[in-house]
Amino acid sequence: MKHLRSMLEELFEWLHQHPELGFEEYETTAKLRTILEREGIEVLDAKLETGLVAQITGDRPGKCVALRCDIDALPIQEQTELSYASAYPGRMHACGHDAHTAIMLGAALLLNQRRSELKGKVRIIFQPAEELPAGARVVLATGMLEDTDLFLGVHVSPELPAGTLGIKEGPIMAAVDRFAITVHGRGAHAAQPHEGVDPIVVQAAIVQGVQSIVSRALDPFAAAVVSITHVESGSTWNVIPETALMEGTVRTLEPAARKKAQEQLQSLAGSIAAAYGAQADFAWYPGPPAVINDGALCHIARNVAKNLMISATMQENTLTGEDFSCYLDNRPGLFVRVGTGCSFPLHHPRFRVDEQILYPTAQYFAQLTEYLLNKGV
Ligand SMILES: [Zn+2]
Ligand SMILES: [Zn+2]
Repeated sequence: MKHLRSMLEELFEWLHQHPELGFEEYETTAKLRTILEREGIEVLDAKLETGLVAQITGDRPGKCVALRCDIDALPIQEQTELSYASAYPGRMHACGHDAHTAIMLGAALLLNQRRSELKGKVRIIFQPAEELPAGARVVLATGMLEDTDLFLGVHVSPELPAGTLGIKEGPIMAAVDRFAITVHGRGAHAAQPHEGVDPIVVQAAIVQGVQSIVSRALDPFAAAVVSITHVESGSTWNVIPETALMEGTVRTLEPAARKKAQEQLQSLAGSIAAAYGAQADFAWYPGPPAVINDGALCHIARNVAKNLMISATMQENTLTGEDFSCYLDNRPGLFVRVGTGCSFPLHHPRFRVDEQILYPTAQYFAQLTEYLLNKGV
């Protein structure tokens, strides 16, 4: 095997050059399958259209630890001028999923060499369609992960110096829910508003009214956001329309805040509409729950970093989401951030990852996994 460091950098550059959108990751999946098979790592028969689940079985029985990465890209036109920039117009690995894939593949190769020392199994999840976000649920639906004891995940972070790890216990990323409210009024001539019920005025009152949810209804210590991001109504200047639509997102870290925000949103929309003689239909589309890191895993993860002389810090929480949380239904997990040493934010057309971080981070996940299998939590 070529030295792992250069192999991971090569793979990362190939992935970066060949970005594929959610559920279209065919080339990526084929590339990963070729490498895993060449290295003698079992690819499970998960029957996924895109994405893979691989497995390394240690010589002694024990627990099952899953390493999860995501493999999809974004519909963004890259502007980095890297020698290995995207070969596909309008598609880019702007969220670092190419780096996650190289890191977890590297960890798998290192663990595969240590098979005779391992107790239990390592499962490596190359998940499709994180950005949609829909991939985690598709992978879970294969039933291949049921006996998994704990999950480890990684995400790059432009806010941290290159290679520095962000490890923090508790909720670190938000539940991502979507809502839509349709106001039904009664159309009329713009010059005769008293003949109808103007849904635009009702909508404006609802947009204002729901601003009080975070400031008045939720615990000030429970971080939350209610954003209305899309409003639509009417088709011309002299007609009062029949309906007005709005949609947006609620982001919360705590389950209690999530429930309260939903209830309050529905109740405010309904009662404000009623006060104006209109009616509001409310739809709630629950997304992935908050990412909650297990305290004991965080403690071990920090010690492993210390042993490898990798610096680790407590990173601030964020109200962005990650469908890594879908795996953690009553099972412990740890989502680690790793600094990219890059000044552009995630999803920016000039976002880039310093390749130097790939090998040490792969080593880190290999050692953490081996510790968790052989010594336990
Ligand atoms: Zn993203
Ligand atoms: Zn991402």
